[in-house]
Amino acid sequence: MSDVASAHGVPDRAAPLAPLSVAGRLDRVRAALAADVGPAGDGAARAGDGPRPDALLVTTGANLRWLTGFTGSAGLLLIGPDRALLATDGRYRTQAGQQLAAAGVADEVELSIGGLGAQREALVGAAAGATAVGLEATDITWSAATSWGALLAPLPVVATHGVVEGLRVVKEEGELARMERAAAIADAALGSVLPMLAGVREGAVVTEADFAAALDHAMRLAGAEDRAFETIVASGENSAKPHARPGGRVIAVGDPVVVDFGAIFDGYRSDMTRTFCVGGAPTGQLATVFDVVAASQAAGVASVAPGVAAGDVDRVCRDRIAEAGWAERFEHGTGHGVGLDIHEGPAVGAGSTAILQPGTVVTVEPGVYLPGVGGVRIEDTLVVTPTGSRPLTRFPKEVAV
Ligand code: ZN
Ligand code: ZN
Repeated sequence: MSDVASAHGVPDRAAPLAPLSVAGRLDRVRAALAADVGPAGDGAARAGDGPRPDALLVTTGANLRWLTGFTGSAGLLLIGPDRALLATDGRYRTQAGQQLAAAGVADEVELSIGGLGAQREALVGAAAGATAVGLEATDITWSAATSWGALLAPLPVVATHGVVEGLRVVKEEGELARMERAAAIADAALGSVLPMLAGVREGAVVTEADFAAALDHAMRLAGAEDRAFETIVASGENSAKPHARPGGRVIAVGDPVVVDFGAIFDGYRSDMTRTFCVGGAPTGQLATVFDVVAASQAAGVASVAPGVAAGDVDRVCRDRIAEAGWAERFEHGTGHGVGLDIHEGPAVGAGSTAILQPGTVVTVEPGVYLPGVGGVRIEDTLVVTPTGSRPLTRFPKEVAV
C-alpha cells in the first residue's frame, strides 16, 4: 500500500487556488429569467400561462452560496430587476458582511439583518418594480410558497425550475480547483486507510463501520471540511445492495468491499467508488463481475466528451453490462453532476438529453449487484474538457488488497 499512499499524499493546504468569480452571477440569473429557459435547457420559469418572472426569491442554500458567497444556515436572497437583497438573522451579521465582501458582491447585494418580520419586509421591498417573482419550486415548501404569495401580493408568484442550477452546471476554473482539491483529499485518505483492509488477511478484525469511520477521519485530517455524503462501506453480501449503510459486519477474506465516499473542500464535493477484494484477486463469478464493471466504467469514461448527450454515456455503460447478461442487475443511473451539491445537474441516465459541455462535472459509476454473490461499483468524477474529459478522482483501480 505504500506506493498508493505515497502517490496520493495529503494535498498542500497552503497551495493557492484560483479565485471564485461570484460577481456577475446575479446578472446571469436575470438574463436566464428574461430568456425563460435555463442554459441547461430546463424550463426556467412559467408554470402554465402565468407571467414571466423578472425577480427570483432564492431559498436553496447552495444557490445562495453560489450567488453571494454566504454560507449561513438561514438566509433568503431576492434578485430583482435592478437590485438584490440578502436577508438573514443576527447570528450572521458579521459573517454575512464578510462573505459578501470576500465574494466581491458587497456593492451588488444589499444586506438586511433582523427578525423574520423585518427580513420579509425587506425582501418584499426589494421586489418592488418587478412584474412577477419566481419561487424555486423544487426547494420551497407549499406553505412557504403560499405565504410568500400573500406577502408579495399584488405581485404574482410563479414556480421556477432550475434557473440557478442550470447556470451552475458548467464550472469555472476556481470551482474546478476546489473540486480537484476535494478529490485529492479523498484519494489521500483512502490511501492512508487501505492497509486496514489488507490487515484482514493477517487476522485483523475490521467492521464496515470501523473502516468508514477511519476513512471519514482521514479525510478530515487531510483537509476536508466534511464528508460529501454518508460514506458507504458495503462488504460481502452487503455489497449487493447499492446504497448499503456501513454496519457491524466483520469484513472477511474473499469479500468484495464497495467503498463510495467523497470530501468537501471550500463547499465543493468529490465522489468516488472503488470496490476491493480482500485477500487477493476475486474468483469465480465475482471475478467476471469485476471485469464487466471495469470494462463498462472504462467505456463510459471514454465516451465523455463535449457535445455528447449524457444519456449516451449511460447507454455505453449499460450496453457493456447487458452484453454480459446482467442488464437487470444495474438498477441505478450511470452518474450525476457534482459541485456544491453531491447530486446536481446533469443527470447521467437513460434518456438524459443534457449535452455535455466543457466545464461540466459528472460521475460515471456503473455497477452490477448479484444477491448471494456480491456487488461491484466503480466510480470516477470527471470534468468535461474541450477535447474529452479529465478525471478529478485518481485513485488506482487495483482490486486485490
Ligand atoms: Zn459515489
Ligand atoms: Zn455518485
